[in-house]
Amino acid sequence: MELNRNGAAVVGVDDHFQRSLEAGKFVIPRCEDCGRPHFYPRILCPHCGSANLRWVEPSGRGTVHSTTVVHRRNDETYNVALVDLDEGPRLMTNVTGIEPAAVRIGMPVVAVVGKAAGAGPLLTFEPGEEQC
Ligand SMILES: [Zn+2]
Repeated sequence: MELNRNGAAVVGVDDHFQRSLEAGKFVIPRCEDCGRPHFYPRILCPHCGSANLRWVEPSGRGTVHSTTVVHRRNDETYNVALVDLDEGPRLMTNVTGIEPAAVRIGMPVVAVVGKAAGAGPLLTFEPGEEQC
């Protein structure tokens, strides 16, 4: 985490996360004191309250915890899902590369950075390999 000489964050954690995605990197904060990662990014560890956080790159692998198909007025549909990263944190995201209704709970997914078209989200997930 970037700090100024008063110890305040120079770049907000949301900005840092967004800038990393724009640079093609998916990062999450991990607590140096209790060792647990979290998401969404916060300035204090939600597990132990420590400010001693470091950005780490997760494996990108996860599992669909819940899934929803959103129908838009123009008949377009897209998927919104909660994905549990292998590292633990759960995040809200979009599963792409598959019909929105074909996304299943328990499906393995992998993070994809920067493939969304236009002004869409930079971080999405696609179906991954079944783990045997
Ligand atoms: Zn902690």
